[in-house]
Order: sequence, then structure tokens, then C-alpha cells
Amino acid sequence: MEAWRRQLDGPVSAFPIARAGPAHIATLKTFDPPLDSLEGRHLRGTERRGKRLLFPTEDGELVLLVHLMTAGRLKFLQAGDKGPKAPAFAVEFQGGSKLVLTENARKKRAGVWLLTPEAAEAELEHLGPEALGLGPEQLGEIVHGESRRLHALLRDQRLIAGIGRAWANEILHAAKLSPYALSGDLDDEQVERLAAAMNEELERGLALREQGASDEKTYRVHRRLGEACHVCGTPIAQVDFEEHTIFYCPTCQTGGRVLKDRRLSRLLR
Ligand SMILES: [Zn+2]
Repeated sequence: MEAWRRQLDGPVSAFPIARAGPAHIATLKTFDPPLDSLEGRHLRGTERRGKRLLFPTEDGELVLLVHLMTAGRLKFLQAGDKGPKAPAFAVEFQGGSKLVLTENARKKRAGVWLLTPEAAEAELEHLGPEALGLGPEQLGEIVHGESRRLHALLRDQRLIAGIGRAWANEILHAAKLSPYALSGDLDDEQVERLAAAMNEELERGLALREQGASDEKTYRVHRRLGEACHVCGTPIAQVDFEEHTIFYCPTCQTGGRVLKDRRLSRLLR
């Protein structure tokens, strides 16, 4: 990664960005700030933090963060150089040079994030291990480290990186665990189930994203209030927890119990 950094440092800062994109749907992980907000800005150069490459803008307002994973490759193309037909991500500079990311793999794992410097800092400082590929042993250490409601624990990027509220719903349903269960109470068998569900659900999500599937087709529990659970047919229920709405199946996950709202405003009182 250090080799990449040195190689790219000069070229990326030579000209302002003319066009940001296109980006593969599985590669670009953020939508706010929008990608085109990079256009017209100058990159300051290339920095590296662990396995991540950072391209901060000269004005200090945005940071483009790239994680190549195993199969991602970055290439700087001079104006007129032949580039890949369908890069996973590209930035074109004024004058015609380009920074392109390619990933020669069936599963797109490399990622690009456009962040504010504060968000980038938070992301990098406190990032837990990636959810995808996390084994039961490592997950066991995390869940038993501090006792938290499972839905909140899964979403905590400092503990496990890469799970948002939608996938927390999908994963807990697949693992047949209550979103309110306390992580410290999980036994070995439940931890194993959670680790397996996490990997299977995220793999399923990646595969569907690659096919360009809509949210509607991807999520089986998230935002499916009142629809039949795809496992048992019970209508999917919802509950407000902290600032999120959780979706779950009362038969598969909570032994028939209906969960009570626990909004942040009520918890603070
Ligand atoms: Zn069910």
C-alpha cells in the first residue's frame, strides 16, 4: 500500500477533478456527500492509514477513502492512455488523466467512500474488524466484551465494521436471535449461529448488489412490516429502538413475544 501511495501522491494532485465516477454500485459505499461534489476540487495528494488510501481535497472539506481489499487495483492513466472498459470507480482530472480502480473478481469487495474529514477520522480511528469473514471465535470476544442489545452491537462500527440497520435486521432474523437479546448472554452455539448468519447474509447481499438487485428484492425482513416471514409465515413486526426502527419476526426471533418501543428520548428521561 505504501508503494501505491508514493506512486499516486504527485499525479493525483496535479490537476483539479473534472468528473468523479462512474462508480460500481457495490464499490461506492457512501451517497452523502454526493460524488459530484468532488468536481472542480483539487486533491492534496495521497495518504495511507493501514490498508486504506486517503485522498483529501486541498480545501480540507472532503476525503476520498479507498480500500482495495485483495483484488482491487488502482491505476493512474495519462490523457490518451487506454483504460479498462468498466472500472469499478474512476476520477477524471482536467486535462484528461484518470485515476481508475479495477477489481478483477466476481465479488466486488474493494470500497470507495466519500466522507467529511470528521467522518473519515471517526471511521479510521475506531473501526472494528470487518463483519464479512469474522469467525465465531473473534465474534465471541466482541459480544462478550460488553453486554449490549444485539441490534445496537451489530451496528456499532467500533466493534464490527460494515453492518447498518438493514443488515442488522436481516442477520438477526437469519440467526433466530432477538434484536433485544443481551450480547453477554449468548452461549457458544448462539455465537456460532450469529457468525454464520452474518457471513451468509452479507454474502447474499453482495451477490444481489452485484446483480443490481433493488432493496425490495434484497431485504427479506427490513421494511417488511406486516408481510409474511419467509421462514414461518408470521407477519413481520417492527419496534422503535433508540433512533432506529427494527424489523423482526416474533415467531422466529422472540419466542412469540412482542418487543416494546425503547426510543432514545424515553431512555434519556
Ligand atoms: Zn418467522
